[in-house]
Order: sequence, then structure tokens, then C-alpha cells
Amino acid sequence: MADEQTIEAQEEQEEKRDPETAARRAAALARVRKWGDPVLRTRARPIDRFDDALREEVARMGEIMNDALGVGLAATQLGVLHRLLVYRVQPESDVAALVNPEVEWAGEVQEGAEEGCLSLPGVLVEVERPLHVRVRGRDETGDEVVVEATGLEARVIQHEIDHLDGVLILDRTTREQRKDAMRALREAQAAA
Ligand code: ZN
Repeated sequence: MADEQTIEAQEEQEEKRDPETAARRAAALARVRKWGDPVLRTRARPIDRFDDALREEVARMGEIMNDALGVGLAATQLGVLHRLLVYRVQPESDVAALVNPEVEWAGEVQEGAEEGCLSLPGVLVEVERPLHVRVRGRDETGDEVVVEATGLEARVIQHEIDHLDGVLILDRTTREQRKDAMRALREAQAAA
């Protein structure tokens, strides 16, 4: 599931998806840590080495994100506790990587939208976030980057930075929606 999709859009895509895409997606999702895994609640450590291993990891994360049809992925979700995320909001653009990202500034205007998460299968909850943010970090070569993001891009980056802090969308929604989501997750786990 891509973050940000509505349930309807997901189901529609599920029907249209060819078997090969569906199989690749299932294989990618199998590598993503799911709700209940303590790693998702652990704060990731900063990265201080910008070497080939890091660049290989970025490439691997980009592949898994693409195969899973997601728009963002944090290293935490693959069980690697360092501060690295990848995202791609526009289908035609390259995968962007952010190392040690920090929200340097967030606008006062908040926007609510439904969010999903590759680590919380079947869950969609309303999350309010700042509409505009400025994020400072490094790319996979160690160069400093500043991203001025708005709307979906801002939302995805904030969602992934939350993962690096052990925060999930369940923590950012209403008590009612959290209760319903937890029930659905428990039922899905019991059925599996
Ligand atoms: Zn997520």
C-alpha cells in the first residue's frame, strides 16, 4: 500500500494489478517490519559514515519502496536503526534519500488527511500535520540538503521522520480512530 491512498483507491488498484506486480509487492511487503515489532518503537541513531554500504542500502530501500508501491520508507521499517529515509512523491521522479533529517521549520497551517503505512497493513487514519516544512539533512554522499516541502511531500517526509523517532500514525490520530485501527490490527494478526 502506498502511504496516502484511500481504501477505495487501494482496492481499485488491487483489482487492476497484474500478477507479477502483485507478487513483487507481496515479496517487498514481507521484508517490511509490521506493527507489534519493537523495532518500530525504537529511536534510530544518526549516521556518520557516508560509504558504499550506505549508498547500496539507499538503492535497496528505493527498490523495496517501489515494489511495495509505497511513496516513502524509513530504514527503521526494515529493522535498521539508523536515521535514513527514502521517498518519491511523483511517479516519474528519482527516489530521494535523506540522511539524519531534521525538521528545521514547520508552518503554522495544519492540514488533515488520511495516511496509511506499509508497517500497518489495512490501516488508514486521519493525521494532522503542518502543510509546509523545511527539512535539513544530508544525501547519501554526505552533501548537505535542504528540502522546502509542501502538501504530500511534506506529509511523507514527516511520516518517515516519525518512524526514525519510533512514532507511528496511531500516535497522531484521534483516540477513536486509534481504537478502531488497533482492533483491526489485532484481528488481522489473529487471523494470520
Ligand atoms: Zn509508515
